[in-house]
Amino acid sequence: MSQQIQAVRGMKDILPQETPLWQRVEQTLRDTFSAYGYSEIRLPLAEKTELFQRSIGEVTDIVEKEMYTFEDLNHERLSLRPEGTAGCVRAGIEHGLLHNQIQRLWYMGAMFRHERPQKGRYRQFHQAGIEAFGMEGPDIDGELIAMTARIWKSLGVTSLVLQINSLGTLAARQIYRGHLVEYFNGHREALDEDSQRRLTTNPLRILDSKNPDMRELILAAPQLSEHLDAESLAHFERLKTLLDSAGVLYTVNPRLVRGLDYYSKTVFEWVTDQLGAQGTVCAGGRYDGLIEQLGGKAAPAIGFAIGLERLLSLIESQAGLPAPQPPHLYLLVAGEHAERAGVKLVESLRDALPGLRLVMNCGGGSFKSQFKRADKSGARVALLLGDEELAKNIVGVKFLREERAQQEISMDNLAASLRELIL
Ligand code: ATP
Ligand code: MG
Repeated sequence: MSQQIQAVRGMKDILPQETPLWQRVEQTLRDTFSAYGYSEIRLPLAEKTELFQRSIGEVTDIVEKEMYTFEDLNHERLSLRPEGTAGCVRAGIEHGLLHNQIQRLWYMGAMFRHERPQKGRYRQFHQAGIEAFGMEGPDIDGELIAMTARIWKSLGVTSLVLQINSLGTLAARQIYRGHLVEYFNGHREALDEDSQRRLTTNPLRILDSKNPDMRELILAAPQLSEHLDAESLAHFERLKTLLDSAGVLYTVNPRLVRGLDYYSKTVFEWVTDQLGAQGTVCAGGRYDGLIEQLGGKAAPAIGFAIGLERLLSLIESQAGLPAPQPPHLYLLVAGEHAERAGVKLVESLRDALPGLRLVMNCGGGSFKSQFKRADKSGARVALLLGDEELAKNIVGVKFLREERAQQEISMDNLAASLRELIL
């Protein structure tokens, strides 16, 4: 036997028993996005590496060490997308969707980050996200957050709590940065290796450290809120009022900085204590400077992304799996004539009964072994078609899950009879 090939580490197969939950969650997301007036955008899985360097930031975990970057045959440096915002803004500028316009967009799909795989952290994972362009006030920030709250409600998820913060304008952050550097410089010996490096490259990112040994030091660090500019403060206050009106509960977390460079003003995360260390299920914020930074005309923007694997584990632990959807009917066919008649029959039934879930036995076998397959499929009713039935122009109907006598139904009004029996 030759050696077996396995999936790439951190890239999971989603097996048939798991897909019903994926489909339910995806459908809820699509329905909710659409109900709030958002349109879908579909973006390439790979972009020029430079796009991510310029948007997410050179000195972020993602760009520093998590990207799948390669040279293609034309020696162009490409990266598999680690997130959706950069590509969406690139596309928006390229197709003229952003200048002087309001856009409400959503996307859903696979993202790639070369991280250490563990529960809730994969190398290929999935996000559903929103990007809203052209609106500078806190009203859209509130809309986005209320929409996420509605999604959790529709899915029966109760253990997520909302944390919000304001990062202020770039200018305010520069001032704050000075204070932070001064503080951490005074505690150099307590900084881990990553944080020492960040002290010169990107000191705010130290606040995002997941190292428990750094916790106390970070807790005692000066807070950005003390240095916020008046406009950002007013924006944040209005957002809080709007969330109150929408009935969305939140806590202000002054240390929430997010791991990407492009954020300004509002940032937020939905977190849970049910998933261990990987507790952030949805994260987002405002990125008013990014469009200009990527070569477009300046325009305000805000977005979020939901990590679908984490959302699904939460649903699984709380609400359980949705019931599978077995076929209504399983057709057993014996003999060459019956097989031909069977193909004709199933296609006409599919024409006549939209929504019908019907499996036709393929691969032959005795009626006995076909019955076993029918049973395993979960179908409620088996239809039998052999030479005898053909000769009489009927189909045998056997109920697989209830005590009911076997019936014979004429081929001529099969669709109508089945509609009554099973749909
Ligand atoms: P974390 O702090 O958990 O690494 P992040 O700040 O890197 O998250 P974002 O870039 O904000 O994450 O992505 C938004 C969401 O996507 C996260 O909150 C999480 O739910 C999900 N996510 C991010 N990275 C992964 C991953 N490697 N595997 C699974 N889900 C992920
Ligand atoms: Mg990360």
